[in-house]
Amino acid sequence: MLRLKKLSAALQSASPKADAMLITHPIDVRYLTGFTGSNAALVLPLERPSPGKTWRRLRVPKPVMFTDGRYIQQAKQETKHAGVAIAQGPILREACAWMVDAGVRRCAFDAEHTTVATLDMLRQWIPGKQRRSFFQPVPPLAAGLRETKDVEEIGRIRAAAQLGCRLFEDLLTQIEAGKREIDVAAHLEFAARMAGAEGMSFETIVASGARSALPHGNATGQRMPRRGFVVLDFGVMLKGYCSDMTRTVHLGRATAAERDAYEAVLEAQFAAIAAVRPGVQCGEVDEAARSVLRRAKLADFFTHSTGHGVGLEIHEGPRIAAQQQQTLKAGMVITIEPGVYLPGRFGARIEDMALVTRSGAEILTPATKAWIEM
Ligand code: ZN
Ligand code: ZN
Repeated sequence: MLRLKKLSAALQSASPKADAMLITHPIDVRYLTGFTGSNAALVLPLERPSPGKTWRRLRVPKPVMFTDGRYIQQAKQETKHAGVAIAQGPILREACAWMVDAGVRRCAFDAEHTTVATLDMLRQWIPGKQRRSFFQPVPPLAAGLRETKDVEEIGRIRAAAQLGCRLFEDLLTQIEAGKREIDVAAHLEFAARMAGAEGMSFETIVASGARSALPHGNATGQRMPRRGFVVLDFGVMLKGYCSDMTRTVHLGRATAAERDAYEAVLEAQFAAIAAVRPGVQCGEVDEAARSVLRRAKLADFFTHSTGHGVGLEIHEGPRIAAQQQQTLKAGMVITIEPGVYLPGRFGARIEDMALVTRSGAEILTPATKAWIEM
């Protein structure tokens, strides 16, 4: 209920005239109600502390979650804090009909998760004159709430991150010259499922040799070389929550340039972690990593941002990137993942998940980052 209350409050300041909000992003619906089905829409009528002149009383003041006939039983079992309506036709059509019936006049929608086509369709389902002013865009308010995790969420994220670390230890036994990258990925993904993961939180990255210079080198049929880096970036989903970590190991003897690049990335990663604490701007954390690589003359090869929030989705707010002014808050879970990529030669990245605590950062992925040559 607390999450719905917070969303109501956020909505009142983002769109003072709205008397309801339509939530269509399935992850947001899950966050707010617990329902995990793939087709859902939540109508949140505004709770108003003091019905005054500008506020009309809605006929049905409770949140309602709309889904379809595949989810009758599941919706009843999972959904909390909202009534359940099983739609006969398109769920959004029924949600619109319900709102009109309940006396809603202005409904806020998440502009980031609503396509132009969907908005057109929604408008068609509102009768007559009301149609033009009925839907009002607002920023992704639920996503904003999701950036700061509660105790239960932190527990789940911690468990997912720990599973990732256990899988990494096992994965080390699989890295050898001549083996295909996808064999390593397949081993990892099978082990993750056997350990209880619902799936991977994104496509597993196993990038070996010159492919390690591809920041998003998904595992391919390429055989791992006798000599060169192997970048392993992967995550599991456990009870809905994602993990995300990267480790880079070296097959055979490394050159001085490879070794130096790895040490610089590691130092940059430590510097960024050291910069994490509540009140610090995300851009400052990014700069902490980037400045180390600048000193090592490698900043031009660090071609992405330093990190991102993780939770029900693999990429959430906040963005840990250059010039980002958003400040960190205790309870946020972010990644710190600097890397350098020298095209055609090699690349290395190190990524941890960090919980922002009152005094700094707690690393949720404590797997070793020491130099590994195998
Ligand atoms: Zn990653
Ligand atoms: Zn990441």
